[in-house]
Amino acid sequence: MQPQPSRRRISPRRLAALASVTVLTLAVSTSAGNGRLSPDASTAGAGPAALSRSSAHGPCMITADREVQMSEGIPTAPGYTRSTGTVRALTLMIDFSDAPGEGDALDRYREFFPETREWFATSSYGRLDYRPELPVPDWLRMPKSFRAYGIERGAPFDPGYRDLVRDIVAEADPEVDFQSYDLLNVLVTPNAGPAALDTVLSVTFAGNKEAPNADGVPVSNASFVYSRQDDGSGSYDRTGYRVLPHENGHVFGLPDLYTAEGGGAVGHWDIMSEDWGANNDFLAWHKWKLGWLDASQVGCAANPGTREYVLTPLARAGGPKLVFVPLNGHSGYAVELRTRAGNDEAVCRPGVLVYRVDADVDTGMGPITVYDARRDSGGCTRSPNVHAELSDATFAPGESFVDRRAGIRVAVIAAGAEEYRIRVTRTARN
Ligand SMILES: [Zn+2]
Repeated sequence: MQPQPSRRRISPRRLAALASVTVLTLAVSTSAGNGRLSPDASTAGAGPAALSRSSAHGPCMITADREVQMSEGIPTAPGYTRSTGTVRALTLMIDFSDAPGEGDALDRYREFFPETREWFATSSYGRLDYRPELPVPDWLRMPKSFRAYGIERGAPFDPGYRDLVRDIVAEADPEVDFQSYDLLNVLVTPNAGPAALDTVLSVTFAGNKEAPNADGVPVSNASFVYSRQDDGSGSYDRTGYRVLPHENGHVFGLPDLYTAEGGGAVGHWDIMSEDWGANNDFLAWHKWKLGWLDASQVGCAANPGTREYVLTPLARAGGPKLVFVPLNGHSGYAVELRTRAGNDEAVCRPGVLVYRVDADVDTGMGPITVYDARRDSGGCTRSPNVHAELSDATFAPGESFVDRRAGIRVAVIAAGAEEYRIRVTRTARN
């Protein structure tokens, strides 16, 4: 362990992770309304419909055996925002009498765009056309003071956020037709609340069918961004927007991968784990879940025996990206190839990443665990806010991941610039 100075200051947020779990409400019904802030079956490609799979993928479509708020299971439960095609993100900048917006509201907007739109275009290989829309280009003043809403980390939807959403809707309604948007981004003036180094207030209410209505549709998928995630390392201008793709990951149904202990389960291999510091991509599992991989790009190693697979770099469009080795109906191992490209700017040891996915484990409780090919090595990065120990977690040619109890071996047998070859061996158990 080689803790970096700036990480320590961020840890309070991680300790508060359990509290944040409670604010994510259950994804439930599909029939919540006709509008788009709350997806319904009539929306083309909505939610699970975007998932590409064949009958051979059946054993790899793990699902939760018990009730969890947000699951890694495939397909994603209904109620979240569609993650393919054109998605219109209603983006509002709000301020308060006790925290008046400083300067131009558009400057707040420019902290996140066009970077967030580009981040999704890159990560999705162009399958998500994320369009931020700004029908109100000024600060939208809330009728109550910031204090009066009682917003703090881990605050539940009721009563503070319900009041805030109701007031946002009332103030914006003359200029906004809420029915024409797929999700809501609320960019709060950065001087409201504590600095992000002290407490990260940013939060998303996803699949929330109890949300107040706007133009006849519930505002069920909304991300709130507070303060600035500036770690003082000098990279803020390039990387400070990354809290928004993380929060929007929740509106698409993705759980938090950091836990009460911090980012040690997944490190910097997914933006749902680490959204401070250098840019990083989503795991291939998330890309399949979001409808960004075709069935032909996902191998399902469910049968006993030995089989070889090709993997191409996750950051590059086209080619096979993911092999899943199911353990049972709710968990399994995912295997992918990570290189320094696209959104992955901090990869210091390209190679094959192996991680366990468990659909039964809830958001913030460690639903995904990356296996470290080099335990206690200290990692290969000194980049600020990149979890160092797991930065060299990848497996290289000649190395193998082995789960003896389950009779599973994943061997990296060859590596080239364009592709790696792996061999998956499953021993039949009796
Ligand atoms: Zn989160």
